[in-house]
Formats: sequence, structure tokens, C-alpha cells
Amino acid sequence: MRLILLGPPGGGKGTVAKKLEEEFNIPVISTGVILREEIERKTRLGKKVQNIMSKGELVPDEVIKEIMRERIKLEDCKGGYIFDGLPRNIKQAESLEKINKERNEHIDYVFYFEIPFAAVIERLINRRVCKKCNTNYNLLFNHPQKDNICDICGGELYQRDDDKKETIKNRLKVFTEQTLPLKKYYQEKNLLTMIDANWNAFLKIKNILKGLQK
Ligand code: ADP
Ligand code: ZN
Repeated sequence: MRLILLGPPGGGKGTVAKKLEEEFNIPVISTGVILREEIERKTRLGKKVQNIMSKGELVPDEVIKEIMRERIKLEDCKGGYIFDGLPRNIKQAESLEKINKERNEHIDYVFYFEIPFAAVIERLINRRVCKKCNTNYNLLFNHPQKDNICDICGGELYQRDDDKKETIKNRLKVFTEQTLPLKKYYQEKNLLTMIDANWNAFLKIKNILKGLQK
């Protein structure tokens, strides 16, 4: 089962992706997480993308293409995967399609998380992320049990560099201009399902996919 979670930043894709990973035993692939790890490890790639990411711009398509190609080759993707926050534009979607074709594979579902931008800004400003396991928390409606500590792994929580008000605005602009066109793209391929990001997105997706598995 190969899934894509599409939608504005802060729509809860990451949280739902983690639950789906557990439920269906297929890995979440988030280019955001992979790139932040590169930055943390101060690799060449990390240095290349750090500035771009802190401004909320998209990193070059070539970089993403290579990450996709290499990542889905790994053993754990045999039964499928969950793409969280990628592809981010038409070019990346076309690359993915090409890679899939070469592998004789295809995407089964694209879920579009619908959420008003006003809600996104509030969610992102209050978002905290676990340094160790990348679980997302929200100081308003999904507070960790202990301040700044991950409930799941005890790791330290931090605020992402790009979760600042000015950067958030730019990310939403980039989203509207570059990522939103993917909605139509996948609609035309009959792959798109709309999901209300506020209302039990995980359960809804799970039920759809259970139907698929039978
Ligand atoms: P969010 O969903 O909250 O925006 P991500 O972790 O998905 O966060 O992305 C964070 C940043 O990483 C993006 O703003 C962008 O700079 C970079 N990034 C992640 N995935 C991609 C991608 N597929 N293409 C281009 N840039 C990406
Ligand atoms: Zn954790």
C-alpha cells in the first residue's frame, strides 16, 4: 500500500502518518524529517539545505528525487510506504511517477488534508517536536504530560526553526503556489480523497484502507 498525505503544513499529516505506520506496518517517509537529520548531522546536504529550509522555501527537486529514489529501495518499503509532505510540486510528482513506473509500482491513495490557513498558523506556532522520535505535540490541544518531554520516548521537545510567524506565512505562500496544484493533478488521476483535518482524520483513513485490504 503506497500512500501520499498532502496538505498545508500544520494540518496534522505527521501525526496521522505515525498512527498509520503503526496500524499498517509500513514506514513513514518524510523528506522534512530526513532533511532536518542531515542538518543536525552537519552533512554536506544539510549545509546546502539549511538556509533554504529556515526561509520556508522548497529545497531543489533534484535533491528530493534522489531521496525518494534511494529511500523506497530499502527493504522496509517492500509492503509500501506513507509519504508525508511529499511530493511538494508537480515536478516532484512526475519524478515519483517515473520512479514508480521503473519499479512496476503505483500510488494507491492520496489523502488531501483540508484545513483553514488561520488554523494552520495557530497550530504551527504552538507546535513542538521530539528531537529523538519526531513525534509532534501542540501546546494548545495536544500537550505533553511533562513540559518539554516526549510522552513516548522521553526525548527533549523543541520548536522548529521554521515554525516562526514570518516563515510560516512564506510556507503557506509556497504551499499555495507550488503544492496546491497537486490536488488537481491527483484528482485527475482519480487518486485523491479529501479528509477534514480537524475531524478524526486517522480513523477515516484507516477505515478506507481497511476496505482496500480486504
Ligand atoms: P511541514 O509539513 O510542517 O511544512 P516538512 O517537515 O514537511 O514540514 O518540511 C519542512 C521543510 O523542509 C519545507 O519547508 C521545505 O523547506 C523542506 N522540504 C521538505 N520536503 C520537501 C520536498 N518534498 N520538496 C522541497 N522541500 C521540502
Ligand atoms: Zn520522542
